[in-house]
Amino acid sequence: TLHKVPAPNTSRRCSACGFITPGSREDQATFVCKNPDCGWSGNADHNAARNILHLYRMGHALIPAAGRAVVRRDKRVKPATAR
Ligand SMILES: [Zn+2]
Repeated sequence: TLHKVPAPNTSRRCSACGFITPGSREDQATFVCKNPDCGWSGNADHNAARNILHLYRMGHALIPAAGRAVVRRDKRVKPATAR
């Protein structure tokens, strides 16, 4: 099944400690947590994927109606639920 979660900060939050620290994205592919007590580092997409999974497991999956305002959709594809 496909579930959507709120996108903000999924690529900036550390998936190990939960902190959002400036400069943690060293480049497009590399995430290094700047929290001195953590320091987790790894692939930035892997980190984002862990955050997305975390949001889902915490019950933050979007229901279609509530998610409409924050979900960016491709304008060429009209979703079946659009009004
Ligand atoms: Zn961290």
